[in-house]
Amino acid sequence: MEFAALAERAEGVAANDGDIETTLAVADLLADAGAVESAENGENGENGGPNDDLPVVARFLLGRVFPAHDTRTLDVGPALCREAIARAAGPNVSAADVEDRLAERGEIGAVAAAYDFGGQRGLASFGGGRDALTVAAVDEGLRGLAAETGDGSESRKRDALFGLFTRCSPTEAAFLARLVLGEMRLGVGEGTVRDATAEAFLASEGRPESDGADDDDDAGGDAELELVAPETAVAAVERALQVTNDYGRVAVRARDEGIEGLREESLRVGRPVQAMLAQAGTATDAVDAFDEVTVETKFDGARVQVHYAPGGAATDATDATDGHSTDGDALGPRLYSRNMDDVTEALPEIVEYVADRVDVPVILDGEVVAVDDDGDPLPFQEVLRRFRRKHDVERMRETVSLRLHAFDCLHADGDDLLDEPLRVRHERLREVLPDAAADLTLAADPDAVAAEERAALNAGHEGVMLKNPEAAYTPGDRGRDWLKRKPDVETLDAVVVGAEWGEGRRAELFGTFLLAVREGGDAGDTPDHDVSDPDAADLVPAGYATVGKVATGITDEALADLTERLEPLVVDESGTTVAFDPELVVEVGYEEIQRSPTYSAGYALRFPRFVGVREDKGVDDADSLARVRRLAGDD
Ligand code: AMP
Repeated sequence: MEFAALAERAEGVAANDGDIETTLAVADLLADAGAVESAENGENGENGGPNDDLPVVARFLLGRVFPAHDTRTLDVGPALCREAIARAAGPNVSAADVEDRLAERGEIGAVAAAYDFGGQRGLASFGGGRDALTVAAVDEGLRGLAAETGDGSESRKRDALFGLFTRCSPTEAAFLARLVLGEMRLGVGEGTVRDATAEAFLASEGRPESDGADDDDDAGGDAELELVAPETAVAAVERALQVTNDYGRVAVRARDEGIEGLREESLRVGRPVQAMLAQAGTATDAVDAFDEVTVETKFDGARVQVHYAPGGAATDATDATDGHSTDGDALGPRLYSRNMDDVTEALPEIVEYVADRVDVPVILDGEVVAVDDDGDPLPFQEVLRRFRRKHDVERMRETVSLRLHAFDCLHADGDDLLDEPLRVRHERLREVLPDAAADLTLAADPDAVAAEERAALNAGHEGVMLKNPEAAYTPGDRGRDWLKRKPDVETLDAVVVGAEWGEGRRAELFGTFLLAVREGGDAGDTPDHDVSDPDAADLVPAGYATVGKVATGITDEALADLTERLEPLVVDESGTTVAFDPELVVEVGYEEIQRSPTYSAGYALRFPRFVGVREDKGVDDADSLARVRRLAGDD
């Protein structure tokens, strides 16, 4: 396919304003790109055959030269791109001129298209017309550029890019400039290319008739490929993308082997997958959504995906990331960041740790945390001093110690585990790397979750992750199956106005504390509703409105201390319930504040948690009902 044809059709795609039109236009484009020479596919399918434009077009549309899992980059910055454009534009144009135009137009494609590269084209056309750029030639040129390293590589990159620009029409120049800077602006996202791939090669409805690969005489029996309902087609493409992270490869496979071929795509040790992500959520959300909740520590470090196939010397990084098969081959431990960057070289002790302990091929998901001499976690910033470091790795290794906490297992000993429930994946994790496997606790109610959270916080961690034990691992997905629960950002400073004596072993101590806020505040806050908790109503001193009772989060030591402080303040006692003079202010966390008739404020703290005594605060500094209203979102 000529590069001009791609650039022009891409402009047409960008001009569409409906999602469906865009998807259909991209599907047409992929089908056309894929109609050429499809019989000559390369062995690994990553890049099709030598004349196969389909994978290249699929990637180019997303502003990529390499698949997402591939750690190679063009490493062409905006300045280098501007210099190449300036040179191609002729002797009277400087990089500063290009920069000025960019400031005016705001976008590199429009700037590149506005220059006339014709003078240079005259040279190219000397003796026989313009040497038309093909998609394959641009791809090859850019891959060559990415391979330039070391001394002088910057100027060689500039020369190569200049060479490409001199052969560009304005439309091509715009496409090329955007491509090298990864700013395609076509309105074509990953979802569009996914849907378009399904549409072009697999879906039974609305399939472009004229130019799909099926029509090719040389396509080797493609006409037999099963066509399926559009949703099934999209799901199959999505699935294959999740395991391969390569739009080009998946498009080729869809075209050549249909849905069956896509289903055969599997994880490969050495080819990183996107990390599964979490949403913010509360213990109540988790308990409501899952039958049982898996509670794990939320480690405050950097996400890391561990790939390792034991059995030989470490494979070179480029082999691992090229998409060349590592199936069955040994691969030394490789570590990838959340964005799938290769961070292996920066973390030698994690590499050694994994190599020493794991004996089967694995893909693990986890977090690398900085620890002090006692093994206690240090703040996240400490990990960053190590994570992407290219120089002084050994020196920094002495300064900042790291520890791996693994919390998931995507592949073990030949088995892809993405579709297995978390509890099964975790069992496999414990088998393959028991030392680093994060503890996992099952909880059935918010109190149990709160207890785990407290333990995690006490151990210096960031909070807890609440996961559905039955859920599959969905790469790249920020779904509801993983919830991150960090401690409340906003706490409340409440006055202790009452308590109940504890039971059994704790009969000598207060156990549950009644909390109140000042009725004052911004407004004349007099409750105007019935209070259904008679205990609470009786105990409320004038000027205070109760908001809840706290019994969670209090250590034995804190209970003894609270009892000692509060006993002298008792003003009333009935049964096991006592009322206090309002004097002691405590800080409490909670999951949310809800309207409720139970307490005199008309609001109740859900899952209140004792944080500590506010020694520094008197009752006049305690929070007001007005603030409670605001926190509840009512003001
Ligand atoms: P956040 O960065 O706040 O969006 O929280 C999600 C991140 O927490 C993940 O991407 C991981 O890097 C990290 N994390 C820490 N501990 C865990 C865990 N047990 N399970 C999953 N993610 C975790």
